[in-house]
Amino acid sequence: MTTGDRQAYLEAKIDTLKQELLALGDLRPGTLSEQYNVCGKAGCACKADPPRKHGPYYQVSFTWQGRSHTQFVRQENVATTRQQLRNYEKLRALVEAWVAAGLELAALRFGTAPVRPRVRRKVVRRATTRATSQ
Ligand SMILES: [Zn+2]
Repeated sequence: MTTGDRQAYLEAKIDTLKQELLALGDLRPGTLSEQYNVCGKAGCACKADPPRKHGPYYQVSFTWQGRSHTQFVRQENVATTRQQLRNYEKLRALVEAWVAAGLELAALRFGTAPVRPRVRRKVVRRATTRATSQ
C-alpha cells in the first residue's frame, strides 16, 4: 500500500466515523448498578431469614468534569438508560478511532514519525521478590 493509498483509506475511515457519530442517539456517561436495601421497619420481610430486601433500585455512577456523581434511575427508565450508556461508550470508541486515524494521517501528510499506539501489557505478578541493590 502506498502512502497515498493509506491516506485515502484513513480519510474514508474518518468520513465513516463522522457518519456514525451523527447517527448516535441520546447518551450519558456512567455505570448502571442495582441495589437492594434493608429498611428500619420492625418485622419487615427485608430482615427475615432468608431476607427479602427492598429493590432493586438502580443508579448511574459517573465522573464528569473531575467530580463523581450518582443518580437514581427509575425502573421504567432502566432500558433507556442502558441504551444511553452504550451510546456514550460508542461515542468514546468513535472519538478514539478518529484520533488514531488523525494522528496517522497527520504524520503521513507531514512526513513525520508516526505516534506508536500504547501497547497494553498484561501485568505479570512475580512470586519471587527482587533483590534490591544498594
Ligand atoms: Zn424492609
